[in-house]
Amino acid sequence: MLIWRRVDFLRIEYRSRFLSKERLILKPFLLSSPPMNIPHQNHSIAIIGAGLSGISCAVALGKTIGNVTVFEAEAQPGGRMISRQQDGMQFDSGAQYFTVRSDAFRQQVKEWLDQWLIDEWPAWLVDLENGEALSHEDGAKRYIGRPMMHSFIQDMAELCDVRYETKIKKIGFHKKESRWELIDTHRKTQGSFDTVIVAVPAPQAVPLLSVTPALTNIAETIVMTATWTLMVAFDEPLQFGFDGAYVLSEELAWIVRDSGKIERDGSHGKEVWVIHASPEWSEKNKKLSTKKVNKILLDALGRVTGRAIPKPHLIVTELWPHAKPVNPLTEGCLYDRELRIGACGDWCCAARVEGAYLSGLTLAARVLHDA
Ligand SMILES: Cc1cc2nc3c(=O)[nH]c(=O)nc-3n(C[C@H](O)[C@H](O)[C@H](O)COP(=O)(O)OP(=O)(O)OC[C@H]3O[C@@H](n4cnc5c(N)ncnc54)[C@H](O)[C@@H]3O)c2cc1C
Repeated sequence: MLIWRRVDFLRIEYRSRFLSKERLILKPFLLSSPPMNIPHQNHSIAIIGAGLSGISCAVALGKTIGNVTVFEAEAQPGGRMISRQQDGMQFDSGAQYFTVRSDAFRQQVKEWLDQWLIDEWPAWLVDLENGEALSHEDGAKRYIGRPMMHSFIQDMAELCDVRYETKIKKIGFHKKESRWELIDTHRKTQGSFDTVIVAVPAPQAVPLLSVTPALTNIAETIVMTATWTLMVAFDEPLQFGFDGAYVLSEELAWIVRDSGKIERDGSHGKEVWVIHASPEWSEKNKKLSTKKVNKILLDALGRVTGRAIPKPHLIVTELWPHAKPVNPLTEGCLYDRELRIGACGDWCCAARVEGAYLSGLTLAARVLHDA
């Protein structure tokens, strides 16, 4: 059970009618409905988070509204889709690939394919248990970013005004002017805006949304599980005979020969593998030292593949504390039209890349519709 301390820094009295549930429940995917009252060009919007949901929301809003600013804590966009660089090598640390189920995402994927920002990943995947590998055939087409997993987000972010390395700590509402003010972690104001959108994982959204208890209460119901990730370079090929494996074991969930993906050629002759621990094991062992995590997961790799694992040339270890939502909402996004504050992200839609994209688009349509 996640327990979060509220940051109720505003002294604002809300009338309960402002927080009625009906206003928060959205018709899923208003993508085709025409905007009713398009806000004028001077309407300003702040988006917190430059992951796929935040950036797709920013691009969709930016087509109509001139004044959209994105705030991102890290030095680059991508969030949980980031490809990490270390010692001249590249690792897909978070999302490994994505699939397509909806027409809206299919159309976007086609554009990214035409722009050479993504490619199909014709991987040989297996289900792996106790040293036994069975071919994993589900007929799904899998896509990856090129040359990095987040390349297409970076491309979209170039169309937006993004303030990097700016972590937002508080959102305040000035009732008199009816405007939102964003305060960063250095207690510096980042300006005031007509509308604010929170595009970060649910547990990180909770303190930011605390000015709107109705949205906070919904975000608090979302459970997101952790994932320990090992990014490992070996001097010689491991010769497992597959590109990636869904692993059935207590410790591991997924392993992939990352250097085998298209354009991951900066590995200097090393073979690069990415290992994801299972959500259950990661949750239980969030506080373990990286040294212990490395040993346990590499031992588990040896057990599930039935091979002796050579000493790695390099290991980079990362904990994703909020990797995936277990119980995402079905509404697509959250939006309070009176206060003009909303939230999007995979946790509002579906626990995958496509869910993040659609959630950003749904909130943009909602903001345009209700403004
Ligand atoms: C280990 C792992 C494996 C995965 N594998 C897959 C997969 O194979 N296929 C798939 O479809 N999906 C996968 N996913 C899920 C997928 O990555 C996510 O669904 C998607 O990237 C979520 O995008 P988002 O925009 O909702 O959130 P995020 O990508 O988390 O973006 C949120 C952004 O907000 C920023 N931020 C947070 N707080 C603040 C703040 N206070 N101020 C400013 N900025 C802030 C963060 O730095 C981040 O850039 C995986 C995720 C993980 C972690």
